[in-house]
Amino acid sequence: MEAEMRVFVDSLRKNMTAEDVVNLEACMDCKMCGEACAWYLVTGDEKLHPTHKTGLIRQVYQRYMTLEGQIGGALGLVPTPTVDDLKENMRYFWACTACGRCTLACPAGISTRRIVRLARAAYADSGLSYANPTIKSIVENTERYRHSFGLTIPQVIGRVGLFLRSEGIEVPVDVHGAEMLFVCPAAGNTKIPDYGIKLIKILNAAGVSYTISPYVIDTGTEIDHIAVHHNLSKQMLEEWEQEADRLGVKKILLVECGCDARTLYAEASETLGRPFRYPIVSVDTLMLDLIREGRLPVEKTDLKVTLHDPCYATRLSGLGDVFRDLLYLVTDNFVEMTPNREHNYCCNGGAGGMRLPENTDLRRKISVLKANQIRATGAEYVTSPCVVCTLSLEDTCRTYGLAQPGERMALVLFEVVYEAMEPALAKRGELDRMFVPAELKNRDPGFFLEHSIEGRMAALMQTPEFPALLDWLERDEIVQRFAKDHPQVYDHLHALRDMTMLTMPALHTRAVADQSQVQS
Ligand code: SF4
Ligand code: SF4
Repeated sequence: MEAEMRVFVDSLRKNMTAEDVVNLEACMDCKMCGEACAWYLVTGDEKLHPTHKTGLIRQVYQRYMTLEGQIGGALGLVPTPTVDDLKENMRYFWACTACGRCTLACPAGISTRRIVRLARAAYADSGLSYANPTIKSIVENTERYRHSFGLTIPQVIGRVGLFLRSEGIEVPVDVHGAEMLFVCPAAGNTKIPDYGIKLIKILNAAGVSYTISPYVIDTGTEIDHIAVHHNLSKQMLEEWEQEADRLGVKKILLVECGCDARTLYAEASETLGRPFRYPIVSVDTLMLDLIREGRLPVEKTDLKVTLHDPCYATRLSGLGDVFRDLLYLVTDNFVEMTPNREHNYCCNGGAGGMRLPENTDLRRKISVLKANQIRATGAEYVTSPCVVCTLSLEDTCRTYGLAQPGERMALVLFEVVYEAMEPALAKRGELDRMFVPAELKNRDPGFFLEHSIEGRMAALMQTPEFPALLDWLERDEIVQRFAKDHPQVYDHLHALRDMTMLTMPALHTRAVADQSQVQS
C-alpha cells in the first residue's frame, strides 16, 4: 500500500464508529439520496451525486479494511483505489455542505455527511487536503493565530472595538467571575465586524452577566467542519475550557452559528473523547428565556419574515422549535417556507460551501432552490439563526434579484429580536440600558477601564503596533464596507489617531515612515 494511502486508511480506522461501518456497508446503490441533494438535483452532474462523493471511500474501506477486500484485491477481483484516485476526487468531498439532507431520502438511513467528514479527516491526516490553498490556510492560520482567517488578537479587538465604540457601546472583556464566556466564530468577527452590535445591545439591555475573552477569538468552526483537523479542533475546545476555568465562568454562550451548535451539542465528545466540561447556552434559547422572564422587553414588529432553518442547528441539532417560539414572540408576520425544519434546503454556505472560492459559481447555481423557496413566501426578510447561512442567503438574494440593490434582505435572527426590543425600550425611556453591560455598570472606574473594550483599546494604544493597526483598519476592505452603515467609524478612527499622535508622537511618526517605505 502507498504510504499516503496507509495514513488515509489508518485515519478512517481510528475515527470510524459502528454506525460508520453500517454507513459504508449498507448502501444498495438505489441513488435515491441524489433526489435530496441540491448539488446534484440542480446540476444533474453524476460527480456531484452523494454516492459519487462517498463511492471512493466505500472502495477504500472494502479493499483495505475488510478480509474479503484484501483477498479479492490480491486476486484482482475488487478495485484497488490509489493515492492518485484520492487526489483526483478530492474536490467532490468539499462540493458538499455535510448538510445531512440526503439521509432523509435514503431507505437505509445512511449518513453521507458522516462519510464525508471521515474522508475530510483522512485527507487532513494524510496531508493530501493541503493541496487546496484555502484548506491549507485555514489550518496554518489556526495553528499560528488561533483564528481561521489569520487575524491577530489586536486586529480582531481593533476591528470589533472600533464598531462598538463608534456606537458608544461598552463590552466587558476579561471579567473574572462573569456568568458566561461569550465566544464568536471567526466568520462573525471577520466578515461582519458590526455583527455583534445588536446582539451586544440585547445582552446589555437584559442585564446578562457575560464576558468576552481577550485570547479566545475564534470558536474553531472551520477547523472542525471544513478542514476536519481533529487534533487542532481538540486543542481549540480544550483552550475554551482552560479560558473558562481562568475566568471562573459557569457557562459558554454561543453566538448564532449552526456549525458551532452542532460541534458543541453533538460532536465535542467525539473530538475530545469525553464530554465538554461546560454547559452550553445558545443565544437563541437565552433570548427566549429572557423575553419569557420579562427581562428583555419586546413589542411585536410587523416585519413579514420567513425563517431559514440552518441544517446544523435544526436538522442535525433539533433547535427548530426554539427559533419559531422566538419568532412568534417578536413578530406577528412570520411565514414558513416550504419545505421547512429538517426537510429544509441547505443555504449551501457552510462547511466550505462559501469559504472555498472554487465552489462560488456552483453554489450560486444550486441556490436557485433556496431563492425559489424564499420568493414563494412573499416575505420582506429571510432570517436565520446562523451567521454563515445569513451571509450565504444575502448572496443568494442578491444573485436572484430578491433584494433591491444596496438593501439587505437576509437578517440574523437576533436582528429581528432587536427590531422588537428597541421600540419597547424607547417607549419605557430605557434605551440607555443597551449601552453598558451589567458587569460594568456599578463598578469603579479602574475596573471599567481595565475590563472594557475601551480599556483594551487603551492597552493597545500603548503598544508600538498601534499606529500600524490604525492604518490597517483605515484601509481594511471589510471596515470600509461596513462603515457605510456606521459613518461615525471614521470619526472614531481619526480621534484614536489624534490621541496617539498626542501621546506617542515618536511611535506614530515611525509607523508613517515605515508605511511610506513599504509603499515606495
Ligand atoms: S450532505 Fe447535503 S450536500 Fe452533502 S451529499 Fe448529502 S445532501 Fe448533498
Ligand atoms: S439512498 Fe442510501 S442506499 Fe440508496 S444509493 Fe443513496 S446512500 Fe445508497
